[in-house]
Amino acid sequence: MLDNFGREITYMRMSVTELCNLRCRYCMPEDGVCKKAHEQMLTEDEMINAVRAASSLGVKKLRITGGEPLVKKNIVSICARSAAVNGINEVCLTTNGTLLPKLAKPLKDAGVKRLNISLDTLSEEKYRYISRVGELKDALTGIETALETGFEKIKLNAVLIGGFNDCEISELAALTKKWPVDVRFIELMPMYDSGDFGSEAFIPYTVVTDRLPELTEQNADGGVARLYRLPDAKGNIGLISPVSAHFCAQCSRIRLTADGKIKPCLHSGAEYSVKGLDLEGMRTQFERAILAKPKWHGELDAVNRSHAGRNMNEIGG
Ligand code: SAM
Ligand code: SF4
Repeated sequence: MLDNFGREITYMRMSVTELCNLRCRYCMPEDGVCKKAHEQMLTEDEMINAVRAASSLGVKKLRITGGEPLVKKNIVSICARSAAVNGINEVCLTTNGTLLPKLAKPLKDAGVKRLNISLDTLSEEKYRYISRVGELKDALTGIETALETGFEKIKLNAVLIGGFNDCEISELAALTKKWPVDVRFIELMPMYDSGDFGSEAFIPYTVVTDRLPELTEQNADGGVARLYRLPDAKGNIGLISPVSAHFCAQCSRIRLTADGKIKPCLHSGAEYSVKGLDLEGMRTQFERAILAKPKWHGELDAVNRSHAGRNMNEIGG
């Protein structure tokens, strides 16, 4: 379906939980989330109906996200049933990777084709700092298990944070020489409660091209990242700039939160609920949400924070 600005909506990001086994400082508060009542959250059947409704309007690609999707007990079933929905060509998943040693194979068998795995640092100490509670070795073991499992594509995502990991840009980028993965640097977005970071933390993607003059530009792959490559690398470097050079004109996305709210735009407070609705009711809500997509998300910086009204773990990124 086309929105009011002629953009075709073909991609849904569906969050299956707000809960997480980490507490990344840019994503959620230290004391975790105020757990919503079970009845407020979508059931598995409602999630699958929502995928059907979105697919009937032209969504072809589904990304399962969270919170941490792998803490959800029925995650394998959600993925398998989503992958079986008519019209869904591709089910991908975004994870912090720590639970992949147990779940990589069942997820692949369920039809998940591609994984994005978050990895902001290669320092044990910094990993503990940024995630508040996590261990780097768990994420690295998860990445290695995913590589052995044979997914179609694995991308490692690092949020670029000035004064934290900008000194590791070369090391993180060099992972594309060690492994057949893409490494993507994503600009830090000023969410509602990610108050740990001052304006110095918000650095533009151009820092990466400045630090790595040996990068050569690659053709875009239809995604939102600008693509580059290091000499002799097995994968690309992707730069994603929601803040310094937004890509709203190419937006093909719609988001569904774990409590059943369709978000026409990541950074807008507008939400359309599908909780408790049947397939037809959900379809109508998706139509409304797609027609309500704004032209762009508005200015974002340390002062002009996101209007999402939620932290990232309550949206899914
Ligand atoms: N738990 C999974 C993970 O960490 O990959 C999936 C959910 S997480 C909310 C999805 C993505 O959002 C992750 O890549 C994470 O780094 C990113 N993210 C969270 N907060 C962000 C922020 N303030 N700015 C930019 N990216 C953010
Ligand atoms: Fe959890 Fe992912 Fe948010 Fe980190 S970024 S706290 S792993 S949901």
